[in-house]
Amino acid sequence: MSSHAGTLYVVATPIGNLQDITPRALEVLRSVSLIAAEDTRHSARLLQHFGVTTATTACHDHNERDKSARLVERLLAGEDMALISDAGTPLISDPGFHLVRQAREAGVLVSPIPGACALIAALSAAGLPSDRFSFEGFLPAKAHGRRQRLEALAGEQRTWMLYEAPHRLLECLEDMLELLGGERHVVLARELTKTFETIKGAPLAELVEWVRSDPDQQRGECVLVVEGAPQSSDDDALDPAAERVLDILLEELPVKQASALAARITGVKKNRLYQLALEKGR
Ligand code: SAM
Repeated sequence: MSSHAGTLYVVATPIGNLQDITPRALEVLRSVSLIAAEDTRHSARLLQHFGVTTATTACHDHNERDKSARLVERLLAGEDMALISDAGTPLISDPGFHLVRQAREAGVLVSPIPGACALIAALSAAGLPSDRFSFEGFLPAKAHGRRQRLEALAGEQRTWMLYEAPHRLLECLEDMLELLGGERHVVLARELTKTFETIKGAPLAELVEWVRSDPDQQRGECVLVVEGAPQSSDDDALDPAAERVLDILLEELPVKQASALAARITGVKKNRLYQLALEKGR
Protein backbone atom coordinates (compact mmCIF):
# COMPACT_ATOMS: atom_id res chain seq x y z
CA MET A 1 0.00 0.00 0.00
CA SER A 2 1.29 3.45 -0.87
CA SER A 3 2.31 5.13 2.40
CA HIS A 4 0.72 8.47 1.57
CA ALA A 5 -2.51 7.07 0.05
CA GLY A 6 -5.77 8.27 1.55
CA THR A 7 -8.53 6.14 3.09
CA LEU A 8 -11.91 5.33 1.56
CA TYR A 9 -14.52 5.37 4.35
CA VAL A 10 -17.74 3.45 3.63
CA VAL A 11 -20.23 5.40 5.71
CA ALA A 12 -23.72 4.23 6.70
CA THR A 13 -26.42 6.91 6.83
CA PRO A 14 -29.94 6.72 8.36
CA ILE A 15 -32.78 4.67 6.80
CA GLY A 16 -35.41 7.13 8.02
CA ASN A 17 -34.75 8.68 11.38
CA LEU A 18 -31.93 11.21 11.00
CA GLN A 19 -30.87 10.72 14.60
CA ASP A 20 -29.54 7.31 13.61
CA ILE A 21 -26.41 8.80 12.07
CA THR A 22 -23.45 8.08 14.33
CA PRO A 23 -21.10 10.74 15.74
CA ARG A 24 -18.21 8.97 14.02
CA ALA A 25 -20.01 9.07 10.66
CA LEU A 26 -20.45 12.85 11.02
CA GLU A 27 -16.82 13.29 12.05
CA VAL A 28 -15.64 11.38 8.98
CA LEU A 29 -18.04 13.17 6.60
CA ARG A 30 -16.70 16.51 7.87
CA SER A 31 -13.04 15.53 7.71
CA VAL A 32 -12.72 13.95 4.25
CA SER A 33 -12.01 16.04 1.15
CA LEU A 34 -14.75 14.49 -0.97
CA ILE A 35 -18.00 12.54 -0.45
CA ALA A 36 -18.99 10.14 -3.25
CA ALA A 37 -22.79 9.99 -3.02
CA GLU A 38 -25.36 7.88 -4.89
CA ASP A 39 -27.49 11.00 -5.46
CA THR A 40 -25.86 14.27 -4.51
CA ARG A 41 -29.16 16.19 -4.35
CA HIS A 42 -30.72 13.59 -2.08
CA SER A 43 -27.70 13.55 0.24
CA ALA A 44 -27.51 17.37 0.28
CA ARG A 45 -30.54 17.38 2.62
CA LEU A 46 -28.83 15.10 5.11
CA LEU A 47 -25.51 16.93 4.91
CA GLN A 48 -27.17 20.35 5.28
CA HIS A 49 -29.15 19.11 8.27
CA PHE A 50 -25.90 18.26 10.06
CA GLY A 51 -23.94 21.26 8.76
CA VAL A 52 -21.53 19.14 6.70
CA THR A 53 -20.04 21.33 3.97
CA THR A 54 -17.70 18.79 2.32
CA ALA A 55 -17.81 18.67 -1.50
CA THR A 56 -19.82 15.83 -3.05
CA THR A 57 -19.62 13.96 -6.33
CA ALA A 58 -22.10 11.53 -7.88
CA CYS A 59 -21.24 7.83 -7.84
CA HIS A 60 -24.22 5.73 -8.88
CA ASP A 61 -25.10 2.57 -10.78
CA HIS A 62 -24.72 4.26 -14.18
CA ASN A 63 -21.31 5.91 -13.78
CA GLU A 64 -19.66 3.92 -10.99
CA ARG A 65 -17.33 1.75 -13.07
CA ASP A 66 -15.78 4.71 -14.94
CA LYS A 67 -15.92 7.10 -12.03
CA SER A 68 -14.17 4.70 -9.67
CA ALA A 69 -10.88 4.82 -11.59
CA ARG A 70 -10.73 8.61 -11.17
CA LEU A 71 -11.70 8.43 -7.50
CA VAL A 72 -9.06 5.78 -6.83
CA GLU A 73 -6.43 8.02 -8.45
CA ARG A 74 -7.35 10.78 -5.99
CA LEU A 75 -7.23 8.32 -3.09
CA LEU A 76 -3.78 7.16 -4.22
CA ALA A 77 -2.69 10.78 -4.37
CA GLY A 78 -3.46 11.08 -0.66
CA GLU A 79 -7.06 12.34 -0.39
CA ASP A 80 -9.41 10.79 2.15
CA MET A 81 -12.88 10.13 0.79
CA ALA A 82 -16.27 8.92 2.04
CA LEU A 83 -18.78 6.80 0.15
CA ILE A 84 -22.46 7.15 1.04
CA SER A 85 -25.71 5.95 -0.54
CA ASP A 86 -29.22 7.41 -0.37
CA ALA A 87 -29.97 5.48 2.81
CA GLY A 88 -28.41 2.87 5.05
CA THR A 89 -25.22 0.99 4.31
CA PRO A 90 -23.60 1.46 0.89
CA LEU A 91 -23.23 -1.72 -1.23
CA ILE A 92 -26.26 -3.34 0.45
CA SER A 93 -28.59 -3.27 -2.58
CA ASP A 94 -26.88 0.05 -3.30
CA PRO A 95 -23.91 1.25 -5.39
CA GLY A 96 -20.34 1.11 -4.15
CA PHE A 97 -19.11 -2.39 -5.02
CA HIS A 98 -16.95 -1.30 -7.97
CA LEU A 99 -15.40 1.60 -6.09
CA VAL A 100 -14.59 -0.53 -3.04
CA ARG A 101 -13.17 -3.31 -5.18
CA GLN A 102 -11.04 -1.00 -7.31
CA ALA A 103 -9.79 0.84 -4.23
CA ARG A 104 -8.80 -2.39 -2.51
CA GLU A 105 -7.15 -3.72 -5.65
CA ALA A 106 -5.11 -0.52 -5.82
CA GLY A 107 -3.99 -1.06 -2.24
CA VAL A 108 -6.06 1.77 -0.76
CA LEU A 109 -7.25 1.31 2.82
CA VAL A 110 -11.05 0.85 2.91
CA SER A 111 -12.62 1.40 6.31
CA PRO A 112 -16.31 0.85 7.20
CA ILE A 113 -18.19 3.31 9.41
CA PRO A 114 -21.12 1.08 10.40
CA GLY A 115 -24.65 2.20 11.10
CA ALA A 116 -28.21 1.68 9.88
CA CYS A 117 -29.08 -1.15 7.53
CA ALA A 118 -32.72 -2.06 6.87
CA LEU A 119 -32.20 -5.81 6.69
CA ILE A 120 -30.31 -5.99 9.98
CA ALA A 121 -32.83 -3.69 11.66
CA ALA A 122 -35.69 -5.91 10.41
CA LEU A 123 -33.96 -9.13 11.46
CA SER A 124 -33.18 -7.76 14.92
CA ALA A 125 -36.87 -7.18 15.61
CA ALA A 126 -38.50 -10.03 13.65
CA GLY A 127 -38.29 -12.75 16.28
CA LEU A 128 -37.15 -15.37 13.75
CA PRO A 129 -33.92 -17.38 14.12
CA SER A 130 -30.99 -15.07 13.44
CA ASP A 131 -27.99 -17.31 14.12
CA ARG A 132 -27.71 -18.02 10.38
CA PHE A 133 -29.58 -16.14 7.69
CA SER A 134 -29.55 -15.30 4.02
CA PHE A 135 -30.15 -11.92 2.36
CA GLU A 136 -31.66 -12.18 -1.13
CA GLY A 137 -31.80 -8.48 -2.04
CA PHE A 138 -34.59 -7.54 -4.46
CA LEU A 139 -36.33 -10.31 -6.40
CA PRO A 140 -36.67 -9.82 -10.17
CA ALA A 141 -39.42 -7.30 -10.97
CA LYS A 142 -41.18 -9.56 -13.51
CA ALA A 143 -43.50 -12.29 -12.26
CA HIS A 144 -41.74 -15.18 -14.03
CA GLY A 145 -38.29 -14.36 -12.64
CA ARG A 146 -39.68 -13.66 -9.20
CA ARG A 147 -41.49 -16.97 -9.04
CA GLN A 148 -38.38 -18.84 -10.18
CA ARG A 149 -36.34 -17.30 -7.38
CA LEU A 150 -39.08 -18.03 -4.85
CA GLU A 151 -39.21 -21.67 -5.97
CA ALA A 152 -35.46 -21.92 -5.49
CA LEU A 153 -35.80 -20.38 -2.01
CA ALA A 154 -38.71 -22.53 -0.83
CA GLY A 155 -36.41 -25.21 0.61
CA GLU A 156 -33.99 -22.74 2.30
CA GLN A 157 -33.79 -23.71 5.95
CA ARG A 158 -32.18 -20.53 7.23
CA THR A 159 -34.23 -17.38 7.85
CA TRP A 160 -34.12 -15.36 4.63
CA MET A 161 -34.80 -11.76 3.79
CA LEU A 162 -35.92 -9.71 0.83
CA TYR A 163 -36.19 -6.06 -0.03
CA GLU A 164 -39.39 -5.31 -1.92
CA ALA A 165 -40.82 -2.22 -3.60
CA PRO A 166 -44.20 -1.19 -2.13
CA HIS A 167 -46.08 -1.48 -5.45
CA ARG A 168 -44.94 -5.09 -5.84
CA LEU A 169 -45.42 -6.16 -2.21
CA LEU A 170 -48.86 -7.71 -2.55
CA GLU A 171 -47.99 -9.62 -5.76
CA CYS A 172 -44.83 -10.90 -4.12
CA LEU A 173 -46.70 -12.05 -1.01
CA GLU A 174 -49.34 -13.76 -3.16
CA ASP A 175 -46.64 -15.68 -5.03
CA MET A 176 -45.03 -16.60 -1.72
CA LEU A 177 -48.35 -17.89 -0.43
CA GLU A 178 -48.70 -20.15 -3.44
CA LEU A 179 -45.12 -21.40 -3.46
CA LEU A 180 -44.31 -21.62 0.26
CA GLY A 181 -47.75 -22.48 1.64
CA GLY A 182 -50.02 -20.56 4.00
CA GLU A 183 -48.37 -21.69 7.21
CA ARG A 184 -44.91 -20.25 6.65
CA HIS A 185 -44.30 -17.41 9.14
CA VAL A 186 -43.30 -14.13 7.49
CA VAL A 187 -42.54 -10.77 9.07
CA LEU A 188 -43.27 -7.58 7.16
CA ALA A 189 -41.08 -4.74 8.48
CA ARG A 190 -42.29 -1.42 7.05
CA GLU A 191 -41.08 2.14 7.40
CA LEU A 192 -38.44 1.20 9.96
CA THR A 193 -37.31 4.06 12.22
CA LYS A 194 -40.04 6.33 10.71
CA THR A 195 -43.34 7.62 12.08
CA PHE A 196 -45.43 4.76 10.69
CA GLU A 197 -43.03 1.95 11.53
CA THR A 198 -44.94 -1.34 11.46
CA ILE A 199 -43.59 -4.81 12.14
CA LYS A 200 -46.19 -7.48 11.55
CA GLY A 201 -45.46 -11.18 11.73
CA ALA A 202 -48.02 -13.86 10.81
CA PRO A 203 -48.47 -17.08 8.84
CA LEU A 204 -48.43 -16.16 5.13
CA ALA A 205 -52.15 -16.81 4.58
CA GLU A 206 -53.01 -14.31 7.32
CA LEU A 207 -50.36 -11.77 6.32
CA VAL A 208 -51.51 -11.69 2.69
CA GLU A 209 -55.09 -11.05 3.79
CA TRP A 210 -53.96 -8.30 6.14
CA VAL A 211 -51.93 -6.50 3.46
CA ARG A 212 -54.66 -7.00 0.83
CA SER A 213 -57.33 -5.48 3.03
CA ASP A 214 -55.32 -2.44 4.12
CA PRO A 215 -53.80 -0.33 1.30
CA ASP A 216 -51.75 1.59 3.89
CA GLN A 217 -49.66 -1.55 4.34
CA GLN A 218 -48.77 -1.40 0.65
CA ARG A 219 -47.03 1.96 1.03
CA GLY A 220 -43.55 2.92 2.11
CA GLU A 221 -40.36 0.90 2.26
CA CYS A 222 -40.35 -2.67 3.43
CA VAL A 223 -38.33 -5.74 4.25
CA LEU A 224 -39.72 -9.27 4.31
CA VAL A 225 -38.21 -11.69 6.80
CA VAL A 226 -39.14 -15.29 6.02
CA GLU A 227 -39.00 -18.27 8.34
CA GLY A 228 -36.79 -21.05 6.93
CA ALA A 229 -38.26 -24.33 5.66
CA PRO A 230 -38.68 -26.97 8.37
CA GLN A 231 -35.66 -29.23 8.87
CA SER A 232 -36.40 -32.78 7.82
CA SER A 233 -35.62 -35.16 10.69
CA ASP A 234 -35.09 -38.92 10.63
CA ASP A 235 -38.53 -39.28 12.24
CA ASP A 236 -40.27 -38.03 9.16
CA ALA A 237 -37.86 -39.69 6.74
CA LEU A 238 -39.56 -40.32 3.45
CA ASP A 239 -40.41 -43.80 2.27
CA PRO A 240 -37.58 -44.60 -0.23
CA ALA A 241 -40.15 -45.88 -2.73
CA ALA A 242 -41.88 -42.47 -2.73
CA GLU A 243 -38.54 -40.73 -3.21
CA ARG A 244 -37.76 -43.04 -6.14
CA VAL A 245 -41.10 -42.17 -7.79
CA LEU A 246 -40.30 -38.49 -7.35
CA ASP A 247 -36.80 -38.91 -8.81
CA ILE A 248 -38.15 -40.65 -11.91
CA LEU A 249 -40.82 -38.00 -12.47
CA LEU A 250 -38.28 -35.21 -11.98
CA GLU A 251 -36.31 -36.59 -14.89
CA GLU A 252 -39.20 -35.73 -17.19
CA LEU A 253 -41.25 -33.00 -15.51
CA PRO A 254 -40.83 -29.62 -13.80
CA VAL A 255 -40.73 -29.62 -9.97
CA LYS A 256 -44.34 -28.60 -9.45
CA GLN A 257 -45.87 -31.21 -11.75
CA ALA A 258 -43.50 -33.96 -10.63
CA SER A 259 -44.30 -33.44 -6.95
CA ALA A 260 -48.06 -33.20 -7.59
CA LEU A 261 -48.04 -36.43 -9.57
CA ALA A 262 -45.75 -38.20 -7.09
CA ALA A 263 -48.13 -37.16 -4.29
CA ARG A 264 -51.08 -38.74 -6.13
CA ILE A 265 -49.15 -41.96 -6.76
CA THR A 266 -47.59 -42.36 -3.29
CA GLY A 267 -50.06 -40.66 -0.96
CA VAL A 268 -47.24 -38.49 0.49
CA LYS A 269 -48.13 -34.80 0.95
CA LYS A 270 -47.46 -32.66 -2.13
CA ASN A 271 -45.63 -29.94 -0.16
CA ARG A 272 -43.31 -32.51 1.40
CA LEU A 273 -42.33 -33.83 -2.03
CA TYR A 274 -42.08 -30.32 -3.44
CA GLN A 275 -39.64 -29.29 -0.69
CA LEU A 276 -37.62 -32.46 -1.27
CA ALA A 277 -37.44 -31.79 -5.00
CA LEU A 278 -36.15 -28.28 -4.28
CA GLU A 279 -33.56 -29.63 -1.85
CA LYS A 280 -32.37 -31.91 -4.64
CA GLY A 281 -31.68 -28.73 -6.62
CA ARG A 282 -34.11 -29.54 -9.43
N1 SAM B 1 -28.57 0.32 1.60
C1 SAM B 1 -29.86 0.19 2.22
C2 SAM B 1 -29.73 -0.56 3.54
O1 SAM B 1 -28.66 -0.55 4.14
O2 SAM B 1 -30.70 -1.13 4.00
C3 SAM B 1 -30.86 -0.44 1.28
C4 SAM B 1 -31.04 0.30 -0.01
S1 SAM B 1 -32.21 -0.42 -1.09
C5 SAM B 1 -32.00 0.54 -2.53
C6 SAM B 1 -33.74 0.22 -0.50
C7 SAM B 1 -34.62 -0.86 0.09
O3 SAM B 1 -34.23 -1.09 1.44
C8 SAM B 1 -36.07 -0.46 0.17
O4 SAM B 1 -36.76 -0.75 -1.03
C9 SAM B 1 -36.58 -1.34 1.29
O5 SAM B 1 -36.79 -2.66 0.83
C10 SAM B 1 -35.36 -1.33 2.22
N2 SAM B 1 -35.47 -0.22 3.20
C11 SAM B 1 -34.75 0.91 3.22
N3 SAM B 1 -35.15 1.70 4.25
C12 SAM B 1 -36.14 1.04 4.87
C13 SAM B 1 -36.96 1.33 6.00
N4 SAM B 1 -36.84 2.47 6.68
N5 SAM B 1 -37.89 0.41 6.37
C14 SAM B 1 -38.02 -0.75 5.71
N6 SAM B 1 -37.28 -1.06 4.62
C15 SAM B 1 -36.35 -0.19 4.21
